[in-house]
Amino acid sequence: MSSERALAKSITIKFWGVRGSITCAGPETARYGGHTSCVEMRCGDDLLIFDAGSGIRKLGEKIVQSGSTRDINMFLSHGHIDHLIGLPYFAPLFRSGQNLRIWAGGFDQIGGTKAAITRLMSFPLFPVGLETASDGVSFNDFQRGEELLPCEGIIIRTAALNHPGGATGYRVEYGGLAVCYLTDTELDNIDSAWLSLARDADVLIMDSTYTNAELPEHKGWGHASWQQVVDFADAAGVKTLCLFHHDPDHSDDIMDRIGAEVTEARPGTIVAREGEIIEV
Ligand SMILES: [Zn+2]
Ligand SMILES: [Zn+2]
Repeated sequence: MSSERALAKSITIKFWGVRGSITCAGPETARYGGHTSCVEMRCGDDLLIFDAGSGIRKLGEKIVQSGSTRDINMFLSHGHIDHLIGLPYFAPLFRSGQNLRIWAGGFDQIGGTKAAITRLMSFPLFPVGLETASDGVSFNDFQRGEELLPCEGIIIRTAALNHPGGATGYRVEYGGLAVCYLTDTELDNIDSAWLSLARDADVLIMDSTYTNAELPEHKGWGHASWQQVVDFADAAGVKTLCLFHHDPDHSDDIMDRIGAEVTEARPGTIVAREGEIIEV
């Protein structure tokens, strides 16, 4: 591929859910949004989705309304409910003629990703089982650290994060661009694999659940503070940092304060909001 063609490529990121732990809809979170983790990435015509939190329902509606049945590749960070709760409400899961490949690592001990989703969509948690899903739904289990090739021209690198029960961090490479999605993870001891994953990324979307002041009482919960994430982004040479997986207890006013502080610490940093679009 010529460098001119490579330069012409772009990645469009849209946030459908930016919260961690649990949805927190209400007037005090209306501006940043109350849905849990779901990020859309468009690499040219290819659609990648990261996590299936409650925000994914509206993305599913948009996909169906568009009329496009182009293949969808979905990547799960891990199986905690805030990252999966939206999947049974994702309309393309049940849409005939729709190919949906769900990729995840770390479900070996319960028999793989399909077994994990089968549990989610079973009595008494959900009224219909996975057998009601479209024939085009498939599951790709991988080992964290593997490289994935979901579509032509897209390479996805992975790494194991530090989270209770484990989680997967992703780096999407397309047309000379790199976007990283690293959630959920603690950052008390930084693994060199995470730095390699995020090295010189154009955009890093990262778990910034807490402030440094809140961190001591949440040791072992598997999340980082925004100050730790700023240091990490600096060490990895990241261009644009994007704070993500916000604490549901952080109101819009608190998020505004964090936004002002992070802008001072690392100008150009984005505090992810539901509905926000970033063009890379
Ligand atoms: Zn989470
Ligand atoms: Zn988690």
